[in-house]
Amino acid sequence: MKSKTEAIIISSMNLGEADKLVTFFSLHRGMLKGVAKNARKSFKRFGAGLESFTLSRLLLYEREHQDLIRIESADIIEQHSGIGCDLGRSAAGAVMLELVREMAPLGERNAPAFLLLSQVLHLLDEGEEPLFLLRIFEIKFLSLLGYQPKLDHCLSCGIQPKGDVIFLGMKGGVLCPDCMVSSGDPQLRISQGAVGFYYQALRMDMDKISRLKPSVGIMQELGQAFSAHTFHILGKKLKSMEFLRTVCC
Ligand SMILES: [Zn+2]
Repeated sequence: MKSKTEAIIISSMNLGEADKLVTFFSLHRGMLKGVAKNARKSFKRFGAGLESFTLSRLLLYEREHQDLIRIESADIIEQHSGIGCDLGRSAAGAVMLELVREMAPLGERNAPAFLLLSQVLHLLDEGEEPLFLLRIFEIKFLSLLGYQPKLDHCLSCGIQPKGDVIFLGMKGGVLCPDCMVSSGDPQLRISQGAVGFYYQALRMDMDKISRLKPSVGIMQELGQAFSAHTFHILGKKLKSMEFLRTVCC
């Protein structure tokens, strides 16, 4: 059975003599893996359409009782070649792709998440600030996958805190100052400014997102909170985050 889908290439690695094993996030069926036969030799069928960050139209072929999908051809819709030209952009983009690969379930359609990734990569390619876009992506992507942290009510007493709160990565929520128990552990403090920015970003359409101008402090607070949150969801750190730290911080 043949089918076509728009897809963003997450990664592509050499397989055997001439093939490529490609991981991609597709509009119609979410995360998938497929083999592109002869991809390293046939420029006509694939061109640069299987490179990371590229938005391509893939022609897929599947046979019953066969696990791996075959990618027959790839046509580039948007190459996003500006991302690879800049260290900050490619480091932030790599974190986004790793988040998708680690968190999006295989074969499960999520059109809003696909659209979000393609919009964010488009802005990254155009030169919008990489760390800002990464924060926006984390906020919206986790919410679309059902992992949205709740920052506006205290997990313990339920009130809407007025001042700083403490973020609990394990629970994806916050504690108000009255419910904080000083345990001696390092505490992840989040200001009301960061909470306000988080909800603004969550609700704002992507075509207006560049109007938001958060301070460096707010971006750092939310960056730490999301690192802790994804660590607890995945049970591990993202590898690409280390590279981003060496490049951007
Ligand atoms: Zn409380």
